[in-house]
Amino acid sequence: MPELPEVETTRRGIQPHIVGRKVTAVTVRDRRLRWPICDDLEQRLEGASVLTTRRRAKYLLIDFETGSLLVHLGMSGSLRLVAENEQPRKHDHVDIGLDNGFLLRYHDPRRFGSMHWLDDASHMLLDHLGPEPLSTEFSADYLYRTSRKRSAPVKHVIMDAKVVVGVGNIYANEALFMAGIRPDRAANKVSKARYELLVEAIKQVLATAIEVGGTTLRDFVGGDGKAGYFAQSLQVYGRAGELCKRCKDQTLREIRQSNRSTVFCPSCQR
Ligand SMILES: [Zn+2]
Repeated sequence: MPELPEVETTRRGIQPHIVGRKVTAVTVRDRRLRWPICDDLEQRLEGASVLTTRRRAKYLLIDFETGSLLVHLGMSGSLRLVAENEQPRKHDHVDIGLDNGFLLRYHDPRRFGSMHWLDDASHMLLDHLGPEPLSTEFSADYLYRTSRKRSAPVKHVIMDAKVVVGVGNIYANEALFMAGIRPDRAANKVSKARYELLVEAIKQVLATAIEVGGTTLRDFVGGDGKAGYFAQSLQVYGRAGELCKRCKDQTLREIRQSNRSTVFCPSCQR
């Protein structure tokens, strides 16, 4: 599933090839995404020029003079640039043709993604989102204050998009391991000093994932669009029953939290 780093990597990959370009033609082969694509998307995009791209949480925004295209990759979506004569494959639902000979092609086998046209930069999907994890707004002080009245497990709190956006399951597992915090510890029982470590770990794990994705940016032009996915070496996620890489003594334990896999070291994480 595309997480924040993959969305950011996609944005950085397509940005230099689409900014300043004019949309020449739009082909929608299947409008049935998570929400149906609006009937006039083609009309709104054709002839418009791309001003810039942005990302908010796991949403990619492509800004035009007249509004913005809000794209979510859902469970299996990808957005990549292909030559205009490249034949569509199965599940290539939308092509946005540009005046430089590229098509921005949206591919999504499971169709859980979405594409919305926004007349201005606000949309209900973007309301109520917490701060970006890599922003200064997301600090230990903030997380400490936010968690004081929350007895839910700390992992739930850092995965709550109202608290902070973009911390997916894998990254939550890895960051809690790096910070030495047990994922099922009550959020209001974690000290400020330990939230310092956790915030640092969240920023580091996401920044590394973006960097790793960034080294394979060329794959967003013509490649299979899968570059950067889970490319970083994982310390705990997917390693239940294996030896902890830090203490080299305990085996990693797996529990289920909200039906998601949580893996941690009972010795290194308290
Ligand atoms: Zn350990």
